Amino acid sequence: MTDINVISISGGKDSTAMWLLALERDTPNLKVVFSDVGHEHPETYEYIDYLEKELGPITRIKPDFSQQILRKREVVDTKWRNEGVSETIIQQALEVLHPTGNPFLDLCMWKGRFPSTMARFCTVELKVRPMFDKVYVPIFGTGNHVVSWQGIRANESLSRSKMAETEETPEGYTIYRPILNWDVYDVFKQHDKHGIKPNPLYKQGMGRVGCMPCINSKKEELYEIARRFPEEIERVARWEEIVSKASKRGSATFFTSNDRGHGIHDVVEWSKTTYGGVQYDLLKLMEEVPMCSSQYGLCE
Ligand code: SF4
Repeated sequence: MTDINVISISGGKDSTAMWLLALERDTPNLKVVFSDVGHEHPETYEYIDYLEKELGPITRIKPDFSQQILRKREVVDTKWRNEGVSETIIQQALEVLHPTGNPFLDLCMWKGRFPSTMARFCTVELKVRPMFDKVYVPIFGTGNHVVSWQGIRANESLSRSKMAETEETPEGYTIYRPILNWDVYDVFKQHDKHGIKPNPLYKQGMGRVGCMPCINSKKEELYEIARRFPEEIERVARWEEIVSKASKRGSATFFTSNDRGHGIHDVVEWSKTTYGGVQYDLLKLMEEVPMCSSQYGLCE
């Protein structure tokens, strides 16, 4: 049985640093995989192409929810009717419930809602499960063993600080976290050492470069996304209209509705306010968008 070292990359700093470490160690049987969730910034897709050109082949996988959406159409047509859901809601759901080929949007249409910090189904449905089904299972089928490299760091969160460097899973593969004890500066130093530029979004104020925005995006991150990439906000607003139609309640917002407002545009307005969310932060609003800004000191 051979160990196949599977590295999942996102276009972010940590997974890139981990790939570079694997190359530095001449790790055998490397398989590098990018799961395209359809909610990344275009510069991240370009960066994935750049990494492939510089470092080696990348297997791209794309989750597909066509079957789930087709089954949901049947549920809408039968169960929703039996439950007395209004004909208007049923008709608007049937109007939009067609697979678009965008994994994030199709997942949300199927679920009739966006993921949230309390219902974080996106990671499992868009990353963990497709990786298992499309990459690990075929490797198991050849009689080999999967070592899944994870680019997480202990100082990112309390839960991560408790994780072990290696872990055996009930599904029969090994998790390996080789950069668990690195800090963020080690990660960027690793890029420098190998002459690999970090994802350019890190010089445009982004702290993370996965989904844009992520359901976990903080106020400042959302403000930065909205002022630099308003087209991404407009895309999410269009998705809110579509997912609302696919929802039994007739309403779905990217961020949970609360005192920040209802819908992505309201939450962007809230991101422009001072602490407490009542007054606009005029100093912030008057500031010109800097060409280069980095939370990690990459502009100095
Ligand atoms: S980056 Fe955020 S929104 Fe995207 S899959 Fe992960 S948790 Fe969900």
